[in-house]
Amino acid sequence: MAVSILSSIPQIEKILQKAFISSYIDRLSRPIVTDIIRDEVKSYKKYILSASTSAEFSLEQLYDNIEHACWVMNQQRLQRVINGTGVIVHTNLGRSPINAELWQSVEDVNTHYNNLEIDLSTGKRGKRKGIIQTLMTHLVKGEDTLVVNNNASSVYLMLHELTQGKEVIVSRGEQIQIGGGFRIPDILALSGAKLVEVGTTNITTNQDYLDAITENTAMVLMIHTSNFKIRGFTESADIKELAKELPPHVILAVDQGSGTTVEDMPDEPTVASYIHAGADIVCFSGDKILGGPQAGLITGEQSLIQRLEKNPMMRAFRPSRIVYSLLEELAVRKLNQLESGSGVAETKSTMAEKNLKERADQLAEGFNDRVQVIRSEMTVGGGSLPDQSTPSWSVELIPQNTKYARSPEKLLNLMRGWPLPVIGVIKHDKVQLNLATIDDSEIAYLRNQLTEALQ
Ligand SMILES: *Cc1c(COP(=O)(O)O)cnc(C)c1O
Repeated sequence: MAVSILSSIPQIEKILQKAFISSYIDRLSRPIVTDIIRDEVKSYKKYILSASTSAEFSLEQLYDNIEHACWVMNQQRLQRVINGTGVIVHTNLGRSPINAELWQSVEDVNTHYNNLEIDLSTGKRGKRKGIIQTLMTHLVKGEDTLVVNNNASSVYLMLHELTQGKEVIVSRGEQIQIGGGFRIPDILALSGAKLVEVGTTNITTNQDYLDAITENTAMVLMIHTSNFKIRGFTESADIKELAKELPPHVILAVDQGSGTTVEDMPDEPTVASYIHAGADIVCFSGDKILGGPQAGLITGEQSLIQRLEKNPMMRAFRPSRIVYSLLEELAVRKLNQLESGSGVAETKSTMAEKNLKERADQLAEGFNDRVQVIRSEMTVGGGSLPDQSTPSWSVELIPQNTKYARSPEKLLNLMRGWPLPVIGVIKHDKVQLNLATIDDSEIAYLRNQLTEALQ
């Protein structure tokens, strides 16, 4: 038996021609699928030779193994998913999706040659910045603006250039860690600055900052505590007063984080408000509330920004034409108050509750008890608007099939394996999908998939 099945295993080339393989070749490439088949055939042969005499083998089993291995690899490929979490800017789900109109508008510049580093009016070598600086001056009110690859780079560059070997004062209430291990004290250490902590986790006053200043102080760094909030008795420094009281040799820097500019986001201080209050330099992410590509933006006093631009690390941090083209287009649309420039955080968080309820009803229609419409909440997430949640509507899934009814985790797994994977959440031992982050166009697909899954 074992010997006969061994000799019946087709050659790799033959297996590659099987119908179930072709979509994986499209998704993963022929060499990778070939490797997977080779590995699976090898381990199946090994299994046959080592198995007991009574064990059963079949080519079907081998093909199943190959298909599963291809599937597992494909699950790791970057792909679209449906976000049913109700967290609008979700770091694990790619933060802000870029507006489709915005994306299409930069196709031409990215698929052709462009003037990235040539000045079209003189023909001379130009700067990478385009007009982003001018656009940003209108949006965030800094004199000059610099773009880097992400906001962690912004913080590093600011500290590296402006504070090396000197002291940086940070409140103990702002020693934050942002998802993925971005720790302010670590970045400070890397940049060569010396951290001076002031205040306590819940109270830091202007006097705490002022008392810590020495002639070796380079900067006061304030960090918008965006992914957590200390509740209860808290007091933080009044930045406007502090800006007035700081001696001239101390730079007042703010890591604003979320990049709120003209978006309608209640309680989230805008970048411009920090500049207005007297911050010398402010940095923020491009792909949170701003709604653009992954980027870090640093804005403020021109003399400081120009120093950052000349820092040798800038060569490592400079973004690509894709990022510049998207940011320019986004800024123009924001300044022209077009909906396509709002950013996903504003668009989704201001959606009418009635609209969300209607969509939940639409999703649940005809499923009787198996899909229940319930009240819920959405959050902006992604390290912005801590504690802020807005009313939303969700559906709760009640499968009849005991396998999924008993284990909401199993249902979540199943949904992640769908052709267009769906990310849900478990609440009260049930799988929920939040309509705040689900598009109208995704409802028909969900209904279709759920029909089978909930039986
Ligand atoms: C998100 C965030 C960062 C990190 O920004 P990335 O763009 O992810 O590098 C740093 N500081 C604050 C306050 C943030 O909110």
